[in-house]
Amino acid sequence: MAEFEKYDIVTGLPYYGDFEKSSKELIATGADKLFALVSTDIGNFKFINHIYGFDKANSLLKSLVEILSDEETGCVLSCRTHSDHIVSLFTYCGRKSDFQDIIDSISTKFVKTNKSKYSSTSLHLNNGIYFFESSEDDFSVSFDKANIARREAKGNYKISSVAFKDDMLGKKENASRVVVMFESAYRSERIEVFLQPKIDITSKKIVGAEALSRIYSEDGEIIPPDTYIPVLENTGKIVDLDRYVMKVVFELVQTWKTMRCTCIPISINLSRMHFYEKKVADKIYKTFSRYNIDPSLIEFELTETLFCSDSETILKEVNKLRAYGFRVSIDDFGVGLSTLGTLAALPIDTIKFDRSFVTSCMQNNKSFEILKGLVGVFKRIDYDVICEGVETAEQEKLVFECGCDVVQGFYYDRPMPIKDFNLKYIS
Ligand code: C2E
Ligand code: CA
Ligand code: CA
Repeated sequence: MAEFEKYDIVTGLPYYGDFEKSSKELIATGADKLFALVSTDIGNFKFINHIYGFDKANSLLKSLVEILSDEETGCVLSCRTHSDHIVSLFTYCGRKSDFQDIIDSISTKFVKTNKSKYSSTSLHLNNGIYFFESSEDDFSVSFDKANIARREAKGNYKISSVAFKDDMLGKKENASRVVVMFESAYRSERIEVFLQPKIDITSKKIVGAEALSRIYSEDGEIIPPDTYIPVLENTGKIVDLDRYVMKVVFELVQTWKTMRCTCIPISINLSRMHFYEKKVADKIYKTFSRYNIDPSLIEFELTETLFCSDSETILKEVNKLRAYGFRVSIDDFGVGLSTLGTLAALPIDTIKFDRSFVTSCMQNNKSFEILKGLVGVFKRIDYDVICEGVETAEQEKLVFECGCDVVQGFYYDRPMPIKDFNLKYIS
């Protein structure tokens, strides 16, 4: 390897300027070789720094560099651009997919090597790959493309590497537009909380509601959540949205109590991003304690993937939420079915079956039997169950036959503004 004047103290790697210069030379003189640029970061590194402190987090970074620079990987040169971001130049032979397998095996080795030393968190690498098409490719553009691909890998625990594709450029622009839109809506109070009822099938009475955010465009049109939620998740902005929803819900329940109305439990979606901050349960409780309401009227819906990572810290925080008296449910249950092995040990109250269960039940008898079996097991071990996405009387009948007594879906009502919800459901 070339000698450089200065090296990063933590990793012993050269600085970006030297890395870029050297990489360009290697590419220019290696016309017979195939090159790829890989941008790597450690998932939840901020959180690892918080939990373990800088020294231990730095050791993890060193371990990553060691694994990356193993001769067999084909890594020629690496550098740390900042924090936990490492960019490396590789040479590879054969198919691109074989090279991607090598990158995935680096991730597996990294997790295996360090798992026992960092057991409070689930370790994960995000890798973005840019395959050079020719030695003429602009190096800094290639670097940007590797980073764009790395961001695509983020948030998906089943994937550790993503190769750059041209259509990702459009997505990047879209993400920036969404963040600007959200911040402007937040400032100018164009965010509203809608409620969708949860209904007991037998009594036809309301037993709860889910709070769902709605953002209005400047022209007063509702922007579909699916177009902004994934971006807000990836950028961490979702935390601000959820906190806003929380305050609105706490205020609403407080108003119901003051007006002596019948209070029903409301569930709030809590993104996994909250759990990357320290003491999330304490923070939520601090806000909550400004209101004079019963915590059992608040339920937090957490997605199944949150429990896939075997992170002790996450489980501790979820346990704490329950210790404060809040209820906790698994949302979209069944989408990943990755929690089956650990279900019995999870600190939760309710299982919320994903809409896909309801639709597949209509299509074949096997799915019906599966739902029926699962509902039976969950009820026996004292979990509440609810099916979401019930759109017709026939679907309601089917899930009822499976043993599920509570449903949420368009059959009863779509999510609606609080004003309308109060008129219809709150006396
Ligand atoms: P989700 O948590 O699974 O919420 C239920 C979604 O299913 C809602 O979509 C609701 O309108 C829709 N839905 C309810 N019943 C039916 C039905 O019978 N048929 C069909 N086809 N759909 C039904 P929505 O409001 O568009 O929200 C989509 C997703 O966005 C939510 O899925 C949730 O993951 C996320 N989301 C929405 N608001 C928030 C929020 O404030 N914070 C967070 N973290 N996520 C949110
Ligand atoms: Ca939900
Ligand atoms: Ca759901």
